[in-house]
This record gives sequence, structure tokens and C-alpha cells, in this order.
Amino acid sequence: MNEMPEMKAILEAIQSGASGDEIAAIGVPASYRAAFVRREDTQIFEGLASADKDPRKSVHIGEVATPELAPDEAYVAVMASSINFNTVWTSIFEPLSTFGFLDRLARESVWGARHALPYHIIGSDAAGVVVQVGSAVRNWKPGDRVTVHCNHVDDQDPSAHDDSMLAANQRIWGFETNFGGLADLTVVKANQLMPKPTHLTWEEAAVNALCNSTSYRMLVGRNGARMKQGDSVLVWGASGGIGGYAVQYVLNGGGTPIGVVSSPEKAALLNAMGVEAVIDRRAEGYRFWKDEHTQDESEWRRFGKKIRELVGDDVDIVFEHPGRQTMGASIFACKRGGTVVTCAATSGYMVEFDNRHFWMKLKNLKASHFANYSEAWAANKLINDGRIQPLLSAVHTLEETGEAALKIHRNEHEGKIGILCLAPTEGLGIEDPAKRERIGEDKITLFRRMSTLP
Ligand code: NAP
Repeated sequence: MNEMPEMKAILEAIQSGASGDEIAAIGVPASYRAAFVRREDTQIFEGLASADKDPRKSVHIGEVATPELAPDEAYVAVMASSINFNTVWTSIFEPLSTFGFLDRLARESVWGARHALPYHIIGSDAAGVVVQVGSAVRNWKPGDRVTVHCNHVDDQDPSAHDDSMLAANQRIWGFETNFGGLADLTVVKANQLMPKPTHLTWEEAAVNALCNSTSYRMLVGRNGARMKQGDSVLVWGASGGIGGYAVQYVLNGGGTPIGVVSSPEKAALLNAMGVEAVIDRRAEGYRFWKDEHTQDESEWRRFGKKIRELVGDDVDIVFEHPGRQTMGASIFACKRGGTVVTCAATSGYMVEFDNRHFWMKLKNLKASHFANYSEAWAANKLINDGRIQPLLSAVHTLEETGEAALKIHRNEHEGKIGILCLAPTEGLGIEDPAKRERIGEDKITLFRRMSTLP
């Protein structure tokens, strides 16, 4: 935490259970501590392979000026945040520097102009307490304990009023906007706020919104693959961020998950979650690409055979996000009439598949991206109801943001990495211990206990 007196007072007020009015009366500090990348650094990794780009070199922790608050926004004191894969993308300036997003936003309006700065405060998750609200905010007030989802939408644009993910100027907060969640304070639109699950600690509450909502839309909501009872779902990266929530949705929804992971430890984690069909892709040694330009259909067949051995048939749905390395196999392994739903391309975005396997078997390819407010709210409620568990596996301080992002970049983690911002230690923020006990400490902390990370 920084030494600004207001920030210290805000933390003390939160910890002592002060009223919303008391918190609001403290005021916001002129500056606050944040994790950011610098515009002047966007070329520092020039010529390096992606794997050699080190977020510890590009992510800085320092004081930033507090921006003015727009009428439809809120200041949130951030108790905890999390690392997402977009933290990695921003910090290695791939596939492009995020300053272009900020400059585009700046051209849209006076309020948008605040975002084009020499630094980009990163982070697309947060759990904390509302400190002040703008004059147009109705449903939230100082003192409210919240989590923040990352769908940043201009609600005066008609295109935002069917499914806001289709809005012409839809953005991801903390990635395509400035003032993200990896900080002691953040500025968000009021329609990004959701109630903090009452049985979770700050860091458990902070890791869910981005990944959980994404998986909800991909599998459960009406805009994704619309999984139904009995469906078998192949989940890539099944102990990772979005994969770990996806597996829970399949189990909750009466489906059969087939989880793909890359180590025996991750396989054990899936078994502990109740996933019986697990493929260790490293142990199996799949090489879907013979070389940079040629895929190997016999490897797709070997993969498909393994799935049939495990669950007796091809899969109804493939939960796809690795992209280039796996898309050919995903399309192949999907059942006749089934759906591959994709939201990402971790291993490369120029994907390739054999169209014959796609059209002759009438398969579907569905694009998905984060979630609209209604979907994020539904996904948050499932966390609050204890039906979906947080995937917190490790906790770092804000100063260690670069190091934590490097772990994700190197795929050395399970589930989600939480970041303590204002929260001085782990374990704070539980409002309803009886509910926590009912849901089960074992379930809530499974990833934290079984993680191979320190
Ligand atoms: P994550 O925690 O790093 O998990 C990704 C998992 O994918 C890894 O644990 C790894 O599991 C697996 N994987 C990585 N490279 C692979 C490869 N070449 N082949 C097969 N599996 C591979 O990341 P995440 O938070 O789940 O995010 C995953 C991707 O989705 C990222 O690209 C992220 O940017 C994107 N994303 C998009 C949205 C959206 O709204 N569009 C939202 C969230 C995330 P194993 O090594 O165990 O197999």
C-alpha cells in the first residue's frame, strides 16, 4: 500500500467495518499505487521469441495520478486482483501494444481521453469496496463490497442493447482501457459491479469474474455452445483459468468432461474435482503438427481414439482456446453435428483445420468472447451460491505482479493466481463464515491446497 493518508484511512475504515458514508467522507487520494506498462517500453522485446519476453522487465509498480470520475463510474478500493492471460499479452506487447486501444478510446469522448497516458494500468479482475460513485450511479453506494467484471460498454450506443458483447465499442477493462484492477484503486463503470460472494476471502473473490464468466458464456449461456445434460465436453487446459471453471460447469450441468492437461499433478487435481476422464497430453506425446506447415491427421486419429476409449464416443462439444496447436484436432475430435466453441488462441491465432471433417459431419464452430453483464452476473451468483468454486492456487503481492505473470506465461501454474492489493494478508474479507462452512472449506480451497506452486 502507498503512504497516501487517504488510502491508509480507506483501508483502516474497511477493516474496522466503517459505514459507507464514513468511507466516502475520507475522499480519494491524488495518486495511488498501481501495476503498469510504459508506452516508452513497447519495443524492448523487439527480436525476442515470445517465450523469452519477460513480464518482470515490463511491468512496473509505482504511483499514478487518480483520474477524475465520470458520472456513470465508481472508485473501488481494490483489496485483491488476479493475473489473467491478458496481463501476459499486455506485458509482452503481443500480438500488439495495448496503447493503440487506449488511443482509440481517447478519440471517442472527453471521458475516453483520460485513458491515453504514457502508462497503462493493467488488470481485469478485482474484489474490493466502493469508495465513491458518480452522480449518475443509482444501484451502488460507498461501502458496497463488490467484484468487478471486465466488460466495458458504452450504454448510449444502440449496438450495446441486444447482447452487449456485440456492442460496436465493447472493450475489456484493464486491457483495452486504462485504470485496471492491479492497483490499490480502480475506476470502473457502475455496470461492471457485482456483489462480492459473502463466503470468500478477498483474494478468492478476486480471481473469478473474468475466467468464470467467459466459461459460463461458452458453455451455459444462450450465446455459446449451450451444453445440455448428458453432453460430453472436451476441455483443453482443464486445470487452467477458463478450463477449471469449464470443467465445473460440465459437472454441474450433468455432462461428462474430458479434461486435457500436461502433468500428472494437474491430472490429480482434475480427479479431485470429480473428473474421471483425463488426458495428459504431454505423457501421450501428441504432435498434431509434423512441422511448422503440416498437420498430422494420424495424430488427430490417435487423439480421437483416446477420447473414445475414455468415454465411448466422440465429444458433443470442444472447449477450445489453445488455437493453432490444437484447432485441427478439436475440429476432428468433435462429434457429427457437435460444436467447437473458441475464445482464444494462446498458441497462435492463424488456425488451420481440414474442412472436409467439418462440413461432411455438419459440425459447428462458435466464437465467444467474455460475457455480457447478465451472463457475468449469473456466473457470479453461482460462485456466491457455492455451486462454482474459486480456482485460487497461489497468492502474490502487487509488487510481484511481473513474476506472477511470468508463471502464467510459462504455463507453470494451475487455476488462478491472486494478487493482494490493499489487503495486507491472505484470509481476510469473509462475511459469512457459516455459509463457508456449509459449502465446505475443502471444496473452496482445493486448488490452493493441491497446487504445486508455493
Ligand atoms: P491459463 O490459465 O494459462 O490456462 C491455459 C491452459 O491451456 C494451460 O493451463 C495449458 O494447460 C493449456 N495450453 C497452453 N498451451 C497449450 C497448447 N499448445 N496445447 C494445448 N493446451 C495448451 O489461461 P486461461 O486464463 O485459461 O486463458 C486461456 C486462453 O483464453 C488465453 O489465451 C486467454 O487470453 C484466453 N481468454 C480469452 C477470454 C475471452 O474473453 N475471449 C477470456 C479468458 C481467457 P496444460 O498445459 O495443462 O494442457
